[in-house]
Amino acid sequence: MSSEFVKAKRLVIKVGSSLVTNQGQGLDHAALARWVGQIAELRKLGREVLLVSSGAIAEGMQRLGWKQRPVAVHELQAAAAVGQMGLIEAYESHFRKHGLITSQILLTHEDMADRKRYLNARSTLRTLLNLGVIPIINENDTVATDEIRVGDNDTLGALVTNLIEADVLVILTDQAGLFSADPRKDANATLVGEANAGDPALEKIAGGAGSAIGLGGMLTKVLAAKRAARSGAHTIIASGREDQVLMRLAQGERIGTLLRAPTQTLAARKQWLADHLQMRGKLILDAGAVNALRDQRKSLLPIGVYEVAGEFERGEVVGCCGPDGAEIARGLVNYSSTEARRILKTPSNEIEAKLGYVDEPELIHRDNLVLM
Ligand code: GLU
Repeated sequence: MSSEFVKAKRLVIKVGSSLVTNQGQGLDHAALARWVGQIAELRKLGREVLLVSSGAIAEGMQRLGWKQRPVAVHELQAAAAVGQMGLIEAYESHFRKHGLITSQILLTHEDMADRKRYLNARSTLRTLLNLGVIPIINENDTVATDEIRVGDNDTLGALVTNLIEADVLVILTDQAGLFSADPRKDANATLVGEANAGDPALEKIAGGAGSAIGLGGMLTKVLAAKRAARSGAHTIIASGREDQVLMRLAQGERIGTLLRAPTQTLAARKQWLADHLQMRGKLILDAGAVNALRDQRKSLLPIGVYEVAGEFERGEVVGCCGPDGAEIARGLVNYSSTEARRILKTPSNEIEAKLGYVDEPELIHRDNLVLM
């Protein structure tokens, strides 16, 4: 029995191109319907699910009658533009049969590297989940050139997992999981049932490249698991062709390979905030706000802030200090220092009157806040 999936509240499920397009033969509607049906069941069990689906380029090639994957970037982008339509249309119609609303999210690496866009993507995804909508995510292949692209959807799945702090990343592929050697070449290869994400030995055994249809081989999956583990998420690599794979995982069955995250989500997030981000400024909080943050684990609202020190942009890290100057928390701020100065001591429902717009009611959402 495996408890990781059973306990998981928020899941990112990634489906690879060769599964979605039936080895490049065109969208496999029967398979799509099966995964969608299982995701609908998971939603009924109270899980939040985000789907990362590949297949735009493969489906585009099929629709355009191209037998070989092009090398020219503009041709790949054109194929993706054609195929993404089919992909989204298919998911939408299958989810609609279960009464579920879908949304299309196309991201590039830049959207996650830039602090402002990172926060924007994060709050949009959270809003969609709160609305009960299923986000269907792919790389924005049509505009993604080499410099700004993530490159493969295993990595994209891991970045999304980090972005919204999912508990588990499930990578559905056309193989049973990670093997000790390439099962196509070595008859003695055995399935790795469980290992620690980030174990360097995994990268050695995952070595080789992927299929001709999709981009990610086992190596990208192993590296994706390592990345997902940074925000405390476990990764499961399993065959998407396995009958009722998601439901069986949800019932605790061991299927495929489980790559465990060694650290807990919260500890991982603290580490990430501490490691990766420079503090740009400070907010000085009144005693009520200190209490709300520290004792009640609430978000920081502008009404509780009476002074802003330093210059910062939306999405940068600021310290939150009590009236005595001691830093009690650190977090990603929703408003720039200029905006923050205009809305300090202001109730959230008056932000719009002061700024002319409102991004979020909080200055720092509690999920983006780490107590020191
Ligand atoms: N974003 C690409 C597509 O949808 C796939 C990338 C991948 O297979 O990893 O066609």
